[in-house]
Amino acid sequence: MHQLEFFIGGRRVAGASGRFGDVFDPSLGAVTARVPLASRAETEAAIADAQRAFPAWAETPSPARARVMFRWRELIERHMDELARLLSSEHGKVLADARGDVQRGLEVVDFACGITHLLKGDFSDQVSRGIDMHSLRQPLGVCAGITPFNFPAMVPLWMCAPAVACGNSFVLKPSEKDPSCTVRLAELFVEAGGPPGVLNVVLGDKEAVDTLLTDPRVQAVSFVGSTPIARYVYATAAAHGKRVQAMGGAKNHLVVMPDADLDQATDALIGAAYGSAGERCMAISVAVVVGEATADALRDRLAARVRALRIGASDDAAAEMGPLVTREHRDKVAGYIAAGIDEGAELVVDGRGHMVAGHEQGFFLGGSLFDRVTPSMCIYQEEIFGPVLVIVRAASFEEALTLANDHPFGNGVSVFTRDGDVAREFVHRVQVGMVGVNVPIPVPLAFYSFGGWKQSAFGDHNQHGEDGVRFYTRVKTVTSRWPAGIRQGSEFVMPLHGR
Ligand code: NAD
Repeated sequence: MHQLEFFIGGRRVAGASGRFGDVFDPSLGAVTARVPLASRAETEAAIADAQRAFPAWAETPSPARARVMFRWRELIERHMDELARLLSSEHGKVLADARGDVQRGLEVVDFACGITHLLKGDFSDQVSRGIDMHSLRQPLGVCAGITPFNFPAMVPLWMCAPAVACGNSFVLKPSEKDPSCTVRLAELFVEAGGPPGVLNVVLGDKEAVDTLLTDPRVQAVSFVGSTPIARYVYATAAAHGKRVQAMGGAKNHLVVMPDADLDQATDALIGAAYGSAGERCMAISVAVVVGEATADALRDRLAARVRALRIGASDDAAAEMGPLVTREHRDKVAGYIAAGIDEGAELVVDGRGHMVAGHEQGFFLGGSLFDRVTPSMCIYQEEIFGPVLVIVRAASFEEALTLANDHPFGNGVSVFTRDGDVAREFVHRVQVGMVGVNVPIPVPLAFYSFGGWKQSAFGDHNQHGEDGVRFYTRVKTVTSRWPAGIRQGSEFVMPLHGR
């Protein structure tokens, strides 16, 4: 059985804890590799390597760091196919979607190539006589990233690309379900000229995570995953004096107004709800349809399309949707379908029991569609993270907006309408971090920042964009007097500039 390895100090390192997890090919339902689960001591060794590499990397001039980032982005692009195949074989998402995963991560590396510009500080000339003031940004030291299974390329790159470009060293702990792509990305960083030890990957579970959250050498922790773990990571790392950003789960609503182009809305909903088998934090899982006639018309269109979804193995070029990541997760999603029926929702399309010929053991589930879902139902309240779309019928725009605003999650939301007044009102009043207007998955590009509101994110800084640079640096503000020989005598009051 193929055994995965850590990437520490610029080389692959075998795990020695004696604890292992299984990595599956979800299309086959078969174990393809064993992942070593790092002990506290092994995680500490990775932190120590990152600590050793930090001073020289932090002192490396930012244009030289930028040149490494440029070479890294070239290598990632050149290895796009290999990376996409690696991640799709462990995650189960179809290859075209896996390329999108790598591509969106690559865009954050593109952004980080501009680090020389991003690190520019402020300068104020003559704030007092002979006195100037300026601010600069410096790296923090060893930073850590803990990532979910659903984007094995994009989410690690959200974190480590800005972090290392800013001059930090980094320890990544990817999901133990599909970590191979993340290890390969770190290997390419060294191939690009990144010094060994600047970017390390440990594989593991809670033991590795808890070490990163509590070790005093780690200065900042970035987390993306489910809300209960995000809350835990935020509280634990903050209690240990670290800077933390912790992104959690989601229940993204798409509001369809009666004047919307229903064909356009149907296309949008099908892609956003069932792409990547619904295993996206920006997947649309709730369609809020305003007006009974609109709901009836949309439901018919959706049902036909859900029944016709092309579901297949991750390497099937014709497939629109692959399997779910594990058997347990597939069964958990199926459990939500049963719960929805029990709660009285109307199951329009039932995806349970879906089989793919030649892949009978694969973790497949067909697309499911519920109608007449109400806010008290668990299939409305909770994140299902699978190919299940629920329709909630609303009587008015106000009712639709209130649903999105009252929901505990606040990651993404969208409105489909032809009315500019309605769209503007929605954007202004909705209590959600990322908003689409006639766009179903409003994931910000790398030069903006990604982050939700409410239970979808804990901490003050979003991922990437200017927020990412702020998160991975701290500001130093300098007041200087030149020429040095100016004498003003001793001052016993607070310094009053500007005179
Ligand atoms: P998860 O919370 O189970 O795992 C995320 C990471 O935390 C993994 O590396 C895992 O090893 C670690 N972990 C799990 N349990 C832990 C514990 N008890 N203590 C310490 N560490 C632990 O999430 P997942 O199932 O891998 O990913 C899916 C979730 O991620 C969904 O909820 C999805 O919405 C969310 N997500 C959010 C965003 C966002 O930006 N908001 C993006 C992608 C995914």
